[in-house]
Amino acid sequence: MNDEKIIIIGGGIIGCSTAWMLKSLNPNLKVLILEKNNQIAHEHSFQSEGIFSAAMNTPWNGYKLLRQAIDDFDNPDSLISINPILFITIDFWIWALRFAYNSFFQFDKKIENIYKLARRTNDLHKRLYNDSRWKYNHLHENYLGKDAGTIEIFLSDIDFNGAKRRLEVLNKKYGERLCLYSNLSRCKDIEHHLNIDSIINVKGCMKNNSEHYSAYNTQKLAEYLMRIAIEEGARIEYKAEVEGFRFENNKVVAVKIKGGEEITGDKIIICCGAHSRKIGRLLGWTPPIWPVKGYSLNIEAPSRLKYSAAFTFDKPINIGSMGSYYRVSSFIEFSTIRDKDVNPEKCLYMLKNAQIILNLKKCDALGYWAFQRAVTVDDLPIIGKFPKLENVYINAGHGARSSSLCLASSELISHIILGQTPLINPHHYSPNRFWI
Ligand SMILES: Cc1cc2nc3c(=O)[nH]c(=O)nc-3n(C[C@H](O)[C@H](O)[C@H](O)COP(=O)(O)OP(=O)(O)OC[C@H]3O[C@@H](n4cnc5c(N)ncnc54)[C@H](O)[C@@H]3O)c2cc1C
Repeated sequence: MNDEKIIIIGGGIIGCSTAWMLKSLNPNLKVLILEKNNQIAHEHSFQSEGIFSAAMNTPWNGYKLLRQAIDDFDNPDSLISINPILFITIDFWIWALRFAYNSFFQFDKKIENIYKLARRTNDLHKRLYNDSRWKYNHLHENYLGKDAGTIEIFLSDIDFNGAKRRLEVLNKKYGERLCLYSNLSRCKDIEHHLNIDSIINVKGCMKNNSEHYSAYNTQKLAEYLMRIAIEEGARIEYKAEVEGFRFENNKVVAVKIKGGEEITGDKIIICCGAHSRKIGRLLGWTPPIWPVKGYSLNIEAPSRLKYSAAFTFDKPINIGSMGSYYRVSSFIEFSTIRDKDVNPEKCLYMLKNAQIILNLKKCDALGYWAFQRAVTVDDLPIIGKFPKLENVYINAGHGARSSSLCLASSELISHIILGQTPLINPHHYSPNRFWI
């Protein structure tokens, strides 16, 4: 157990944080990351928004989003859209029906289950931040944003009332200090760089007073975690695309790399984000994950927001501070793993709204991106032992929240693998919660 060889497939934010956590819990482990690209976190972690407020996360499969998806079904410019190729894809419709079914149950419970991982990730960030200043100062990367938490702005009564419910649960049960205001001048006082007067129908805002930082650059964070893991003895192989496995009884004894090489290992962890569906299929179980495309763009902004901002418009947009620039993100497109097309109208919508919200005379995008989130049918990540195989594990399917949940998810999977007692009940995230 002490010097086992653990192979992590996938070098995105989840794979890198898993490597970091395994090495910090047991320095004797031999940890190897296999990444198909020639750089860390250059797929879906590359231009993620990076907002990681613990209390802001609500599951996607709830009544509101489902209703919006049905209403806007045939409108390609709406918040939620479906790539036409999926109309004839049976796998997608099976996934979508399961997703819709889960929208009717346990919404509040899911908020708590997301919250627990997000809160623990926030706490682990404090440790990481301290380590970055003292122990790993030579590796220090400025991955944290410059803001001091997240402010949420609500434009409908449904969203405002939903926030009130979230506040009641999280403040009472977990001691958060969420404050909700319907008084707009109070909202303006909290974040005076936001041009709240320019937005019609603002119902109020919410701020968590127990949060002290918010956005970070997910790709830089992944690189930083990887560099610490390497310093502690982990290894990474680039251009190592896993395309098969060698089995003995109920075990995987080697992974097969494109080009023919085989690499042996004692335990395997799948951290392939939206690609985990394909990898899982090779192992006899297809995790119920679907690629859901979103857009992000970077803008220069002279004004300094104190907080990252999340606006629940009809088409919600998030604005996170990345240091010298802001990152704006939005849109939900059920898509295919290869679809990286950028829709110019949607980007223009994001750009225009960012310009209004930030009260900018001129607003040019520094770049546009489209990436897939790995969304599960109940919008909770899949963390635990892979079905039917003795030595395979999975840490994937974090949807729109990989950065928010990465450190705690990695701690949970590491505790499970190392036979240590998890700090968070693993049951809610286990692959066993699915009926297939
Ligand atoms: C527009 C947008 C905004 C977002 N905003 C936020 C936010 O504000 N907060 C938040 O927390 N999250 C946010 N997210 C979500 C989050 O950033 C991503 O979902 C996350 O980065 C995914 O991380 P991952 O490590 O699971 O997957 P990935 O980053 O996709 O990493 C998987 C890695 O596995 C590798 N791989 C795949 N297959 C193989 C194989 N066969 N062999 C070897 N390697 C393989 C890939 O190359 C890749 O590097 C956002 C996402 C999007 C798209």
